[in-house]
Amino acid sequence: MYDFAVVGVGPAGARFARRAADAGYDVLALEKGEVGTPLACSGHVSTDIWEYVPDEARDRLFQNRIYGANFRVGGPDSKAYPFYKQREVSNVIDRVELDRTLADCAREAGADVREGHTVTAVEELDDRVRLTVSVAGEAGTVQFEAKMVAGCDGPTSRVRRALDLPEPSETLHGVLAFDPEPDDGDFVDVHLTVPRFFAWRIPRGDAGVEYGLAAPPGAEVTELFDALTNTYDVETEHFCSGAIPIGPPDRTTTRRAFLVGDAAAQTKPFTGGGILYGMTAADIAAATIDPDDPETLSAYESAWRDELSREIRLGHLVRRCYSFPEWLQRVGLRSLSGEIGVHMDKPSSFFSREHLKKLL
Ligand SMILES: Cc1cc2nc3c(=O)[nH]c(=O)nc-3n(C[C@H](O)[C@H](O)[C@H](O)COP(=O)(O)OP(=O)(O)OC[C@H]3O[C@@H](n4cnc5c(N)ncnc54)[C@H](O)[C@@H]3O)c2cc1C
Repeated sequence: MYDFAVVGVGPAGARFARRAADAGYDVLALEKGEVGTPLACSGHVSTDIWEYVPDEARDRLFQNRIYGANFRVGGPDSKAYPFYKQREVSNVIDRVELDRTLADCAREAGADVREGHTVTAVEELDDRVRLTVSVAGEAGTVQFEAKMVAGCDGPTSRVRRALDLPEPSETLHGVLAFDPEPDDGDFVDVHLTVPRFFAWRIPRGDAGVEYGLAAPPGAEVTELFDALTNTYDVETEHFCSGAIPIGPPDRTTTRRAFLVGDAAAQTKPFTGGGILYGMTAADIAAATIDPDDPETLSAYESAWRDELSREIRLGHLVRRCYSFPEWLQRVGLRSLSGEIGVHMDKPSSFFSREHLKKLL
């Protein structure tokens, strides 16, 4: 029997598997497909990302350096309100390579990482959990047992549903596609043209330019995407689509299970970004949870909320501005734009001395 079974080897699952294996636990990590695929993410992250990957991976992952964002109330011809720093704010990275690198780190730490393993059922027993798994290319199913299960299986988490944990309060639909023309521009473009969220253009260096958007259910995402690329007059390829959970729900643990990453809606409500919040929570899980002591799950539940809840709450407030009437958005953007001192993962840094100085 394993100490931990991890379902899903995205950033959250790979990071938890690595840290738990580092701590000496027996870890089985199951990924339904091939790690990193299919892609459904921009890989636009704060420079904090480099704390989570080995130095030698940097050149392989890095695509472009971003210094700021041009916000617009309309399309590319409308007035731009720039928000920027003198130094880099964020990086654009190869998300598929990120996942592969993180999974390799978990393997090197001693976790048993298996691809082509889809978890189809999760049973929570008194002293263990039992997973039913279908293995690619094999008939029937196999079972694995562990003292605890980590549900790191993304926005539509099977672990969450199997164990009747509450769903995130909202799930957005995100889409993106690429124009292969290289662009090493310094700014991303943000268009507040989508109901309750935004559309974006991200220069990815030699990897081309990404166009994307996310919107709440009911919005015609494909039509909105076509409108975006038409206004830029570009043809795109490699269309990708994914869900972005916004929440988080009130409870992310049971007696022998816990959720990490998108499964727990540990995302930024104002951008949908979840790579760094998920890995932050994964580190907290590895530091607080003892598979022999189910009581420690409540320590995880409160510790990750202590770390992320304030930022998530403030992120919800930022997101509300996307629904302001256009005239008010213009007034807000005009008064706040310019040089900033904000950390892109921490809305609380809006109140930091560095940012207030820039604002004044
Ligand atoms: C369009 C779009 C753009 C985005 N852009 C950004 C961005 O720029 N920056 C950012 O920080 N975030 C971004 N995000 C969000 C980001 O992709 C997620 O927050 C992040 O991937 C969450 O990591 P995770 O490990 O929790 O889940 P995932 O990355 O979803 O990983 C879950 C893994 O579990 C596997 N799995 C699922 N079910 C099973 C099962 N039954 N058995 C076994 N394996 C299973 C999946 O195959 C997957 O590999 C974006 C999301 C979308 C949709």
